[in-house]
Amino acid sequence: MGNCLFCKIVRGEIPARKVFEDDEILAFHDINPARPVHFLIIPKRHIASLATVTDADAPVLGHLLAAASRLASEQGSPDGFRVIINTGRIGHQEVPHLHAHIVGGPEPVGPMLKRIAPTA
Ligand code: AMP
Ligand code: ZN
Repeated sequence: MGNCLFCKIVRGEIPARKVFEDDEILAFHDINPARPVHFLIIPKRHIASLATVTDADAPVLGHLLAAASRLASEQGSPDGFRVIINTGRIGHQEVPHLHAHIVGGPEPVGPMLKRIAPTA
């Protein structure tokens, strides 16, 4: 994907602060972190979003998730972390190359989402 931002990072055409890479996946720090630990893990092969995956993508997605815990610990979030995969327009996905945000740090990241209505 010639014009894809994250494909350009995979090809080394745009710099990134790499956390880890192997043949299948690349992890790099988010350029605009929301928590002390905030990095992205992407499949190196272009997959637009979680909405477009097929069963053929299952191995790389499993590999990506399996790497998350180890990398989160190494990056300073050993007591847990949150994985966020924004998907499509409703999911507010801004970069159309599938990526998992790994967020954490020494403090809890906070509630998941604001509830629609307060609980009684
Ligand atoms: P999303 O809204 O899930 O598509 O998130 C895209 C994320 O990519 C945002 O958190 C951005 O801060 C991050 N981002 C955008 N450009 C870069 C870049 N060149 N290097 C690292 N992270 C980036
Ligand atoms: Zn891409």
